[in-house]
Amino acid sequence: MAQVPTVTGMVEAEDLGTTLIHEHLRNADEAVRDQWPMVGAVKEDEPHEVPPERVFEIAVREAKAAVDLGIKTIGEPTAMFLGRDVEFMRRVSEETGLQVIPCTGIYTYDYLPQFFLNRDADQIADLFVHDIEEGIQGTDIKAAFIKCAADEPGVNENIEKVHRAAARASVRTGAPVMAHSRPASNTGPRQVEIFLEEGVEPAKIQIAHTGDSDDLDYIEGLLETGVWIGLDRYGLDIFLPYEKRQATAKALLERGYADRIFLSADSVGTTDWFPPNVIDGLIASGAANDWTIRMVPERVLPDLREWGMTEEQERTMMVENAVGWLTA
Ligand SMILES: [Zn+2]
Repeated sequence: MAQVPTVTGMVEAEDLGTTLIHEHLRNADEAVRDQWPMVGAVKEDEPHEVPPERVFEIAVREAKAAVDLGIKTIGEPTAMFLGRDVEFMRRVSEETGLQVIPCTGIYTYDYLPQFFLNRDADQIADLFVHDIEEGIQGTDIKAAFIKCAADEPGVNENIEKVHRAAARASVRTGAPVMAHSRPASNTGPRQVEIFLEEGVEPAKIQIAHTGDSDDLDYIEGLLETGVWIGLDRYGLDIFLPYEKRQATAKALLERGYADRIFLSADSVGTTDWFPPNVIDGLIASGAANDWTIRMVPERVLPDLREWGMTEEQERTMMVENAVGWLTA
């Protein structure tokens, strides 16, 4: 059977087990971290600024909580500009036993540094291929998938170039692609179109954050192309409240799409995106509720079981789909 790279080495695909496909152990801009290393980060349910040395402890605490809830593996889509650090991931994995699947790629909604503005899609793809075939950041840790993103600015020139680079690296290596999307800006169909134009097989394409919409026509339009979708932001009520996310999941299960769906939370152990007082405000306003790596095993799955999700549907979404996408 096929093998999948993790931060602690290759694992047999059949040993991935219960997998959350989209969780971040930490998120911090690498340029800020490099220039102002004393700046801390915040955690949703611990909304004071924590110093850099505590970021590791919190990542370990969250990863351990996931393991205790039966999670064996996470997809870790922390790419460039989210502070990817595979040695950090490896230390968390070794400390907790959680299998962590790293990625390559660029997370941007528009901005690119001159380095990328002055290189074409093939030259950018070369970097992604390096991470997949040689290893990431000077280590022997290999990337399992390629991350890119489109958000409110849409699929503009820079974003299209990154998508084509991701697609070409996928075609060259066989690694699958995960694309952050924004349903409210209708980015999904254009993202899929670019990947298909570049020759990526639909079974290697995952459109993340599709579950930020409850528009079943939009979602089925994507599913009909044969791609995977992420219902992967449980807890981020600011984009779609929990009950609507669950109603969408149930409707899609009823329509037979268990074999195309990932359930996850897009949680972050810690983040530097906001100062602590803003996080306080987000929690007080209900923008984020139970938004942790624990959300899916602790709340989403029990609620779906009570509603009538079958054991087979659960196993498909939580175990088999990760194998299917990662080894397509
Ligand atoms: Zn994410």
